[in-house]
Amino acid sequence: MIQEQQTPMREQPADERRHNFDEVPLGYSPEEAVQEAERCLQCAHAPCVKGCPVGIDIPGFIEHIVNREFDKAIAVLKKDNALPAVCGRVCPQENQCQGVCTLAGRFDPVAIGRLERFCADWEADHEACYPDIEPDTGKRIAVVGAGPAGLTVAGEMRRRGHAVTVFELLHVAGGVLMYGIPEFRLPKAIVQREINALCEMGVSIKVNQVIGRTQTVQELLDGDYDAVFIGTGAGLPRFLGVPGESLNGVFSANEFLTRTNLMKAYLFPEYDTPIKVGERAVTVGGGNVAMDSSRTALRLGAKESIIVYRRSEAELPARGEEVHHAKEEGIQFQLLTNPIEFIGDENGNLKAIRCIRMELGEPDDSGRRRPVPIEGSEFEIEATTVVIAVGNGPHPLIPQSTPNLDLNRWGSIVADPETGLTSIRGVYAGGDIVTGAATVIEAMGAGKRAAQAMHAFLTEE
Ligand code: FAD
Repeated sequence: MIQEQQTPMREQPADERRHNFDEVPLGYSPEEAVQEAERCLQCAHAPCVKGCPVGIDIPGFIEHIVNREFDKAIAVLKKDNALPAVCGRVCPQENQCQGVCTLAGRFDPVAIGRLERFCADWEADHEACYPDIEPDTGKRIAVVGAGPAGLTVAGEMRRRGHAVTVFELLHVAGGVLMYGIPEFRLPKAIVQREINALCEMGVSIKVNQVIGRTQTVQELLDGDYDAVFIGTGAGLPRFLGVPGESLNGVFSANEFLTRTNLMKAYLFPEYDTPIKVGERAVTVGGGNVAMDSSRTALRLGAKESIIVYRRSEAELPARGEEVHHAKEEGIQFQLLTNPIEFIGDENGNLKAIRCIRMELGEPDDSGRRRPVPIEGSEFEIEATTVVIAVGNGPHPLIPQSTPNLDLNRWGSIVADPETGLTSIRGVYAGGDIVTGAATVIEAMGAGKRAAQAMHAFLTEE
């Protein structure tokens, strides 16, 4: 008899965790992991593997868990994924491997993400596992940007025997994993552990390197490097373009989360980054970034944290699990509502948001029903802080500083979807800088495909 439901994972209770930055889900014990792994049918056609953008041998690692061979399970995972502790925590598995699991539909799918996380966390308490590295090829690769795309290319190219240097503009590597996704969803020590493992393999990471200013892509190619990968992400915040957006107390989600996560504002005064949210924080948007911002505002001391989203609950783009956690913690949702003005006091500090009610009209280009303002429905919400989380555009520095690099009309780099090759010979790109804001695993999948193509380019030259 198959256990119909997933083995539950213990979590911090909602009324405790809304006051701290500790991780929310607590992980499986070995017994719970084995119990969940035993639900896997070991299907011969393995749809889950096809559903995984980096093609992990999912039945293979799960079978090792069933046999309590946790060291072998992590070795299988690490063959295809340099960041299993990250992916086990933040991947939208429900739309990928778990979405196509044979059990899904009749029962709960196997909790593949939780099992991946279990193996990675088990490894942290035991001997680290490194993939085999081919003998040195004498070729040198520059990777620009140390997010999931760049880190994946770095690991994949190092394994093939190439010398890899990663150039990162911030003072730490990790990209959004470090500066965006909050500690309570993805502890930074865990991200750092996976980055350290890449360094142990011989990847060199240089931080505080603003490519496009300190050196250009062309200078990297003309200098020490045989090929360049660009994985600079979509870090340029979008705004609403309504009056009052520059008042004190109005943040982009990017700034709000960077101050809190990367600059550790939540540990003020131990870290000297101040942040103040006041009594009532309002986050505009409905994706993962909005959920992260509103839950962060609550933890920073807001008495009320409200999401304002212009469509209905059915269209919320955030992961179901994140919406569920947000609701449990007391985040309020003002749906079918759109800000039209931010109102300040005489000192230029935000005091209220003027909103309008919306209704859903005909589907737009994205297939979702278009939100339409309802005339005469304007109203005000008092607010001490607003966080705008309505999306990000491509990071502009490399596109602006690299002549002959083809861009699309949104300013993203044009790259072959199979190889990541750009319009410049020897220059590859992948992740959010190519696709626009997407997911960790899609960025990693693009990195993996690009590494394969770069290796072929370097060895067939
Ligand atoms: P990034 O992670 O953005 O990394 C790009 C790196 O390049 C950065 O470190 C940047 O500093 C560096 N860089 C930029 N320009 C230069 C330059 N000129 N020189 C040198 N370095 C440069 N995805 C999920 O799958 N699940 C989630 O739960 C999830 N939650 C998210 C929550 C938030 C708050 C945000 C913002 C995103 C979230 N995402 C999530 C999306 C996911 O994080 C991104 O899709 C992913 O990080 C993209 O990876 P990347 O490597 O392309 O870019």
